[in-house]
Amino acid sequence: MKLEAHGATDVGRQRSRNEDQFLVSMERSLFAVADGMGGHAAGDVASRTAIETVDRLVGGVRPADGVAERAAELIEATRAANSAILQDAERDPERAGMGTTLTIFTVVPELRTRVIAHVGDSRAYLLRDGVLKQLTTDHTWVQRQVELGKLSPRRARVHPYSSVLTHALGVPDEERIDTLMGEVREGDVYLLCTDGLTTVLEDDTIEDVLRDGPDLQANARDLIDAANHAGGPDNITVVLIRATDVESGAR
Ligand code: CA
Repeated sequence: MKLEAHGATDVGRQRSRNEDQFLVSMERSLFAVADGMGGHAAGDVASRTAIETVDRLVGGVRPADGVAERAAELIEATRAANSAILQDAERDPERAGMGTTLTIFTVVPELRTRVIAHVGDSRAYLLRDGVLKQLTTDHTWVQRQVELGKLSPRRARVHPYSSVLTHALGVPDEERIDTLMGEVREGDVYLLCTDGLTTVLEDDTIEDVLRDGPDLQANARDLIDAANHAGGPDNITVVLIRATDVESGAR
């Protein structure tokens, strides 16, 4: 399996600071996005801590690795990031209450399998055969209302509480880390993104952009441009990953 990837981030049109962070490590087939929140510069500290912890703790895929081993590694890194953020917030009152989302994506090439670990409302999507599908479930209050049948997905997106998270790193709370596995197929395109993209763009719009052509860099730029064109109310981060030579099994 071969991967191509491109990551990009933009402050947007209305914020003075970019508190999103992302990771693209081709040699480890490791990708992540984090969306920080908190007063002063604390949101930036939280998302940076999350991404740096993933970068430090998650190694490359070892030949003996199965999907379970890889998932365990992602969970361990996510827990470590959570602890680091909580400790940091305890030491520095200005950072109290800071938090971050974290969505990590990797593959186990020999098994043609993807592994995702996810906390918060940043998302992972898959474009396969021209159809976009959201893989992660948002850890938000509105998503819970959708699941309870009390709110339509369309209304959830524009709801005043749409950004209220039920789970995030740095929030002393019942832990929830979703892990998702699935088959990787030739030509799959994966999108990791923060809510600065998805609060302003419908899935149909994202799908249209990703179907546009094979240039991931151009696609990432077009997604960010579209979010800014729609007002750019928040920081926007996208990481795009395409799988090729999947059948070969080789890395
Ligand atoms: Ca955000």
